[in-house]
Amino acid sequence: MASEGERVAIVGAGLAGCLLAVLLGRRGVPVTVYERRPDPRIAGAERGRSINLAISARGLAALDQVGLRDQSLKQALPMHGRMVHPRAGGTNFQPYSADGERAINSISRAELNRSLLDAAEATPGVTLRFSQRVSGVDADAGTILLDDADSEPADVVLAGDGAYSAVRGSLALDVDADFLEHGYRELTVPPKDGEFALDPDALHIWPRGTSMMIALPNLDRSFTCTLFWPKDEFHALDTPDKVTAYFEEHYPDVASLMPDLTDDYEHNPIGSLVTVRCWPWTRYGTRYGTRYGDGAVVALVGDAAHAIVPFFGQGANCAFEDCIEIDRCLTETDGDWSRALSLYQERRKANTDVIAEMALDNFIEMRDRVSSPVYRAKQATTHALERRLAGRYVSRYELVSFSTLPYAEIPARIRRQNRVLAAAAAGAALAGIAAVALTGRAVRRRP
Ligand SMILES: Cc1cc2nc3c(=O)[nH]c(=O)nc-3n(C[C@H](O)[C@H](O)[C@H](O)COP(=O)(O)OP(=O)(O)OC[C@H]3O[C@@H](n4cnc5c(N)ncnc54)[C@H](O)[C@@H]3O)c2cc1C
Repeated sequence: MASEGERVAIVGAGLAGCLLAVLLGRRGVPVTVYERRPDPRIAGAERGRSINLAISARGLAALDQVGLRDQSLKQALPMHGRMVHPRAGGTNFQPYSADGERAINSISRAELNRSLLDAAEATPGVTLRFSQRVSGVDADAGTILLDDADSEPADVVLAGDGAYSAVRGSLALDVDADFLEHGYRELTVPPKDGEFALDPDALHIWPRGTSMMIALPNLDRSFTCTLFWPKDEFHALDTPDKVTAYFEEHYPDVASLMPDLTDDYEHNPIGSLVTVRCWPWTRYGTRYGTRYGDGAVVALVGDAAHAIVPFFGQGANCAFEDCIEIDRCLTETDGDWSRALSLYQERRKANTDVIAEMALDNFIEMRDRVSSPVYRAKQATTHALERRLAGRYVSRYELVSFSTLPYAEIPARIRRQNRVLAAAAAGAALAGIAAVALTGRAVRRRP
C-alpha cells in the first residue's frame, strides 16, 4: 500500500522518534508524534538523567542526512581516547585510533534531543504532541490508545518509545528483557576555578572490578560521571559518611573534585541497564493492506526494538541507523509501508544482535581489563598493526566507532584479518627458518 493518504504516527519524541519525523516529513509524509513528557525545551531535564552520550561515525552519518551534523558537533566535545585511572593511582591515556586523530564526541542527550525537536518542528507535515502518553496500539483496529483521552486512528505506527516501550508491551511479541545486576547513578565533577577539573579530551574510566565509573566532559566545563555498580551495593552506602569514606578509598583522585558527591548520591535515581531482544519488530493488523482498509502496521524503532547496555556507546548511534534504514527501505519500495518495514526489520536485526553482544563484552573490558599491562600491550600492538597495514587491519573499536560497516559484518571481518595475520606470521616465521637454513648452508659451503 502506498504511503499517500495514510495516517502515520510516531510514539516517542526521543532521539529516534524525532530523527524519523524529520526524515518522513522530508519525504512529504505527514506524521504526528506523541510524546508522554511535556516539551523538554520548556520543562528542562529531570534530575540525575542528564546523560551525555558518545556520538560517533554512525550517529554523525545519520545526523548528516538531515543537516544536523555540524550543529551537533558544535554542541559536542571530542574525546580522542580513554584516560584510565587505575586503583594504584596515576593515569594512562589510551588513544582510540592508531593515528590518535579520531575522536568520539561527548554530547548532552537533552541538548541533542532539543536540536532534533527543533528540526522536527520546523519540518512541514510534522506535528508534535506533548504530554500524550500512549498506552498501546490496537493493530487490528488501527488505533493508538492514549492515557486520559480517546483512542486515535493510525495506519502506520512507528514506536520509538524507548527501552520500556508501552507499544511493544501491547503487541504480544516475543520479548526478552535481560537486566544486568548493575545499575547506574550520575554524579558531577564541576569546573575547578572555571576550568575543567580533568582532561576534557578523554573519556575517563575508573575500572574497579565489580564497580566502574566513567566521566564525559560537558561544554560548561563540568563532567558527568556515571557510577556502575550492583544495585544492592548502591543501597549499602546509606549515610553521607559511608559515601564519602567509600569514595575516598576507591576513587581518591576524583572524590576531592566532587563537592556535591553526597547530595548527588542521595538524590539522583539509580537507573537500570537492560538488553532487549525482541522478534519480530513489526505487527500487522489482520486486515492491514486488504481492501477493507482496516488495521495498522506497527514497527519498533531504536531502544524499543533493541535496547543495549551503554558500554560501547552505541545505543543512540544504532537507533539513528534504524531511522536511516526505514527511510532507505521506503525509497526502495516506493513508499510501500508494509514491504518497507518488513525489509527494515530483516536488515537491522542481525546488526543489532551483534552490537548488543559487543556492548556486553565491552563492560568486562572496561571494568576489568583496561588497566592491565597485558591489555595495554595488546592495544599498542593493534595500533602498530593498523599503522603498518593501513586499511587492511582495522581494530574492532575502529570498525564500530569510526566506520559505518554494518555491525553484523564486523566479527567476520575481524576473523578474516586475524587469519591473514596468522598466515603472515607463520609465513614470516617459515621465511626466517628458511633464511637461517640457507645462510647456514651457504656459510658451510664457503671454503
Ligand atoms: C547511562 C547511559 C549511557 C548511554 N550512553 C550512550 C552513548 O554514549 N552513546 C550512545 O549512542 N548511546 C548511549 N546510550 C543509549 C541511548 O541513550 C539510547 O540508545 C537512545 O536514547 C535511544 O533512543 P530512542 O529514541 O530509541 O529512545 P529514548 O531516547 O529513550 O526516547 C524514547 C522517548 O519516548 C518517550 N516515551 C516513552 N514512553 C512513552 C509513551 N508510553 N508514550 C509516549 N511517549 C513515550 C520518552 O519520553 C522519550 O522521549 C546510553 C544510555 C544510558 C542509559
